[in-house]
Amino acid sequence: MKRNTTSFRLEEKTLRAMIAIYCRHQHRPAGALCPDCAALEQYALQRLERCPYGAQKPTCAVCTVHCYEPALRARTRRVMRFAGPLLLKRHPLLALRHLARRLRRPPVRPRRAVA
Ligand SMILES: [Zn+2]
Repeated sequence: MKRNTTSFRLEEKTLRAMIAIYCRHQHRPAGALCPDCAALEQYALQRLERCPYGAQKPTCAVCTVHCYEPALRARTRRVMRFAGPLLLKRHPLLALRHLARRLRRPPVRPRRAVA
C-alpha cells in the first residue's frame, strides 16, 4: 500500500491514534510515546506499507497473511483490544471506518509475495 494514498493515511491515522491511547494509559501519561510503543508504531507502519492488499485491505485482525512477527503481533493485539473502545469515544469516525473495513474479507491471497 503506497504511503501517499487515502487508504494508507486513514490506516496510519487509526494506528497512531490507537497506539497513542494505549501508551498514554499504560506507559506514559503525557508527552511522546515510550520507546517500545514508538518502535511498534514504526514497525506497524512499515508492515502497512508492504501490505499486498492495497486499497482493498481488510483489517489486520481478519487478514489471512499474518505478516507481523509473532511477538509484535501479540503486542499489537493487546494495543487494539485496549484502545478499541476508547477510540470509539475519541475518534468515532476513525473507529467506525475501521469497523466497516473489518467486515471486508479478502477473497483470495494476493499473488505478490509478502516481504
Ligand atoms: Zn508505551
